[in-house]
Amino acid sequence: MSDFEVDLFVIGGGSGGVRAARVAAGHGARVAVAEEYRLGGTCVIRGCVPKKLMVYAGRFPDEFADGAGFGWTVENPRFDWTVLQANRDREVARLESIYRGLLDGSKVTTFDERAVIDGPHAVRLPSSGRLVRAGRILVAVGATPVLEPPIPGGELAITSDGVFELDHLPGRILVVGGGYIAVEFAGIFAGLGSRTTLLHRGEKLLRGFDEDLRDALCAAYRERGIALELGNTLSKVERRDGALAATLADGRSIEADTILVATGRRPNTRGLGLETVGVATDEVGAVPVDPYSCTACPSVYAVGDVTNRANLTPIAIREGHAFADTVFGGRPTAVQHDLIPTAVFSTPEIGTVGLGEEAARLRHGDDVVIFKASFRPMKATLSGRDERTFMKLVVQGSTDRVLGVHVVGHDAGEIIQMAGIALTMGATKADFDRTVAVHPTASEEFVTMRTPFVVKTPVAVG
Ligand code: NDP
Repeated sequence: MSDFEVDLFVIGGGSGGVRAARVAAGHGARVAVAEEYRLGGTCVIRGCVPKKLMVYAGRFPDEFADGAGFGWTVENPRFDWTVLQANRDREVARLESIYRGLLDGSKVTTFDERAVIDGPHAVRLPSSGRLVRAGRILVAVGATPVLEPPIPGGELAITSDGVFELDHLPGRILVVGGGYIAVEFAGIFAGLGSRTTLLHRGEKLLRGFDEDLRDALCAAYRERGIALELGNTLSKVERRDGALAATLADGRSIEADTILVATGRRPNTRGLGLETVGVATDEVGAVPVDPYSCTACPSVYAVGDVTNRANLTPIAIREGHAFADTVFGGRPTAVQHDLIPTAVFSTPEIGTVGLGEEAARLRHGDDVVIFKASFRPMKATLSGRDERTFMKLVVQGSTDRVLGVHVVGHDAGEIIQMAGIALTMGATKADFDRTVAVHPTASEEFVTMRTPFVVKTPVAVG
């Protein structure tokens, strides 16, 4: 590889790209990374991290209100958007500099500019005019939110990127979509005090999740005062008297100060030069890869959201690591995408791993046993808050294997990470049952569920 300036050129300095670069460098490769925006990528700069900080901010009003039942008086709490924004942005900048430090510490060369593919072993940096010859090229450019579908006035709306640039808290917000991002931001803005409407084309939020979770979330969001407009879409947006008027498909109109469209993200492949290496993208613009993240061109690989496999930060990191081990560490490693614990940072939070009941029944028919619990969390007994925690186990009857674990309630994300270990190890219901409960907690419910949930069907009388 001596006629190459680097052994690996990574395009994109997000979670997947940075991990791949560092691990490859650790295996002795000469590595360069190009990032056109800010190191850290979506997760650090305008995704998971700043979003979660906003989730925390949105939950304080509950704490203030709940304190009363425990003897606390909290008078006139006031929220200052500019304080949250400044502190959040400072934390993001700190993490960004840590990412740079990690790359520098691994002796990875960083280019703060756009890079495009110019051949199987060539990367071009258009703004500085450089051409870098590389043994391998890794595409880790991620995805970007889109204002879709196109509608008249659609450009007046913002995407999740725009949320981090808002200079004030909108008094009224209309959030469009029913996936992770729409659900999370609707929860955040409602918590911070915006009058929030969540508009989704489906009859329930979070398609693909267990139906009980979807029902629990809809009920909880309504209870929290979020107006759910389900089975409806946005057909037009107009600016009217300083506000935005959203016309829905059924002809009704909703006024809002901000409209946030969260109807999905698209891989950032436009203009990337993939055609110069014979790599065709799929119908959503994603790069097809094999289990080792190799594209149709043997020297070009791709990891993370640009491949549209499982669009989650920990998966991008795994894919980046596995790529580096495979190509530079002599350890071919394919990433498994079948058992992925995940959390939705709605309020209440959702945690889920494995199969939902419907997916389990599709795969295993009647060989599925369900355990469920719905209860008032202990804290609510004194706070008086009208809330429920919901927990569910999906078990395969014949093997006793736990196929799915699902939670709606406080710390669901933390709970599901641990449940994920058990499921990854192949835990059975008997393993759950012989685990000693931690008392008093909510998650002890998972080791004390004894009676299967049976749907009572009416008995036909002949
Ligand atoms: P999702 O794909 O999760 O959701 C998109 C939503 O928009 C769906 O409800 C979809 O409806 C709806 N939609 C799509 N097209 C249209 C349309 N033409 N008209 C009306 N509605 C439409 O995308 P997100 O943008 O929410 O999130 C992107 C990815 O980011 C997710 O896949 C997730 O993996 C990741 N993410 C993860 C987070 C976490 O781990 N906590 C947080 C945020 C993002 P329908 O269901 O009917 O298709």
